[in-house]
Amino acid sequence: MEIANGQYRIQNIPIEDIVNEFGTPVYIYDADKIAHQFTTLKSAFSDANIRIKYAAKALTNPAILKVLKNLGSGMDAVSINEARLGLQAGFEASDILFTPNCVDFDEISEGIELGLTINIDNIAILEHFGNKYHSTVPIVIRLNPHIMAGGNNKISTGHVDSKFGISIYQLPHIMKIIKTYDLNVVGLHMHTGSDILDAEVFLQMAEILFSIASDFKDLEFIDFGSGFKVGYKEGDVTTNVFDLGIKLSKAFRDFCKDYGRELEMWFEPGKFLVSEAGILVTKTNVVKITPATAFVGVNSGLNHFVRPMMYDAFHDIINISNPNGVQRVYTIVGYICETDTFGSDRKLNEVREGDLIVMKNAGAYAFAMSSNYNSRTRPPEVLIYEGKAHLIRRREELDDITRTLVDFEPNSEGNT
Ligand SMILES: *Cc1c(COP(=O)(O)O)cnc(C)c1O
Repeated sequence: MEIANGQYRIQNIPIEDIVNEFGTPVYIYDADKIAHQFTTLKSAFSDANIRIKYAAKALTNPAILKVLKNLGSGMDAVSINEARLGLQAGFEASDILFTPNCVDFDEISEGIELGLTINIDNIAILEHFGNKYHSTVPIVIRLNPHIMAGGNNKISTGHVDSKFGISIYQLPHIMKIIKTYDLNVVGLHMHTGSDILDAEVFLQMAEILFSIASDFKDLEFIDFGSGFKVGYKEGDVTTNVFDLGIKLSKAFRDFCKDYGRELEMWFEPGKFLVSEAGILVTKTNVVKITPATAFVGVNSGLNHFVRPMMYDAFHDIINISNPNGVQRVYTIVGYICETDTFGSDRKLNEVREGDLIVMKNAGAYAFAMSSNYNSRTRPPEVLIYEGKAHLIRRREELDDITRTLVDFEPNSEGNT
């Protein structure tokens, strides 16, 4: 999103025009930004044999999946339905890494039938898998390195209390199972959580993986997961992918030399690829002045965009309808009957009823986490691709909410 001649635009299309066509609230995604992020990551690791597996849970619309596939990405799926959406979007089954956790074994079997690359994150599942498939199906093992990473516990998955991955301290047990069932391990995987601040955490994790990897003779790749941090506001520390690229590529090359073979280096970013590409455009319903606060009430809420409430995530919020207005301090809230505060005490250009309020960085974990709470419908999604706005999901209607209901009539004589 850029501002030109007092108008906010994406790929030169005024956001007001998009809103006039599709209404508010609306999610808008910029395909150029996604491509830019993808290319940035590729070039930061141009010294390594890098493969990017987009973590589809961040933003699952098939149009986005197709854009990423076109760029050369693979996909990381955390549920069988996500994997199916990936297949429908045109990904090869083998290009989809299936990384579920705490699922019924049947779901893993389905993934195997579909031909997905299976990532196993639990000893019991590994044994179950061994019993059923032996070496007939290659597998990836998700390890937990017990590195404390990420901004807070909700997004950190590598700490000792985490439910994700098999503890590296269980390695002897893993090796026994692999040997007993003659398992074919083609990849090792770690994902320590979102919002890793610096290259050191990755390097630490890499050293652990490398020391373990030498015990596995048939590896084709090592998957370093994700956790690239993007900027949410001015001055935020972000992952310097170029610094990381140089340091990790070198460590990886040294490892491959020792290992005796060139392996692929995998990443599975979600946020890094799509967060900054997305915005949520809302309309101001009311400006409500209370003794303590000036509230801006918009036509959206935690039903559409829960990150600020769920993770205390900071999202930049701007008034795009009054770029030259004086700045005032507002608290921006939603219309849900809950405390659904998007941002407290923010400086915005003076807000009037009807003004368009934009939440930035709303590409990742935004629409994907939306709900019908308060029986409200979900907004449409619009993709700006090659200078044109494409509706990639229409706005929901009441029918979309009632479709799954089954008729029921209570006893007309009243409860007995
Ligand atoms: C969620 C997830 C990712 C993506 O994390 P981001 O912080 O969005 O980059 C990658 N790998 C796995 C296994 C995940 O669960």
